[in-house]
Amino acid sequence: MDIIKEIFNGNFMPHGHCLLWRGDLLFLHVGGDVLTFTAYMLIPIALVKLVKSRDDFRFNWLFLMFAGFIFFCGATHLVGIINIWNGYYYIHGIIKIMTGIISMVTAAMLWHLLPEAISFPSRRQLQQKITELQQAEKQLEESNQRLEAEVKKRTAQLEKIATTDELTGLYNRREIMRILDVEISRVSRQQTALSIMMLDLDHFKAINDQYGHQTGDVTLQNTAACISQGIRKTDSIGRIGGEEFLIIMPDTTIESAYDHADRIRQTLAVQKAADTAEQRCTASIGVAQFLQDDTLQSFIQRADETLYRAKAEGRNRVCRSLSE
Ligand code: GH3
Ligand code: MG
Ligand code: MG
Repeated sequence: MDIIKEIFNGNFMPHGHCLLWRGDLLFLHVGGDVLTFTAYMLIPIALVKLVKSRDDFRFNWLFLMFAGFIFFCGATHLVGIINIWNGYYYIHGIIKIMTGIISMVTAAMLWHLLPEAISFPSRRQLQQKITELQQAEKQLEESNQRLEAEVKKRTAQLEKIATTDELTGLYNRREIMRILDVEISRVSRQQTALSIMMLDLDHFKAINDQYGHQTGDVTLQNTAACISQGIRKTDSIGRIGGEEFLIIMPDTTIESAYDHADRIRQTLAVQKAADTAEQRCTASIGVAQFLQDDTLQSFIQRADETLYRAKAEGRNRVCRSLSE
């Protein structure tokens, strides 16, 4: 009890006596201490606020130690003001000792952390890293776009390969059948006319036998080019077998399909007569129009049967299905 009484004993000689109670000295000391005390109370508040709002900082506890030692510094200045008129020198001394201890600990910690703190990247270094990352991201984006364009191009090439007959450049069997399937669904919905031609070269085997397979290939290519020139934009043409072609003619009745087929037949026949013969062939064609109860198979079958009738009737001719 006596110790506590002694600590809070303010009866020592007030500091003002040392200043001879002179107004100018009192003003300088009290004014300086008031300013310092005010600042030393505001700094810890700012540091605590910072720590509270940025819990991601790694050295938050160091900021709190700084706040502590600045607070105690402020407290010594406050007691300094009080002691101008009183003599609380124990309290003043105790606060000075505590300020010294917390300052020493903070200083020791600061020195301990200095190498790590120095190794932190500076704002400029971080900015540079961000710029590098942004550039890398941009490059990645560009190469992604290039890759996507390449994939698109390759996909288109693969699609073309998958749907095209290599020798003639026409649709292959799978693709022309797919198109026919689409056209059949359309014609069923819209109640329009849909006709097909089944075209087979006459005595094609003889060309192979006589002039060789390569010449046969050229004949197939010539025939494909000739038929392609003779069809409309809306028509589709595919090679469905060795020397057999299927032509799909949307919005076409059997009558106009027949006329169309005969024009193609005539062109092939005229060219065969005009050319040196070995690279040309006449053709037999079966024409059929889609009927209400038809399926893809029955439609193709009718065209096929009609083609064989054209063959049987002497070739180089067009026959139309008898069902229409
Ligand atoms: P027809 O008038 O009865 O149709 O007689 P054709 O000789 O045209 O018919 P056939 O079915 O007897 O012979 C077809 C030939 O087509 C047999 C085959 O070697 C040939 N061929 C099939 N595909 C190709 C090909 O890609 N290139 C070549 N050069 N010949 C092929
Ligand atoms: Mg043939
Ligand atoms: Mg054939």
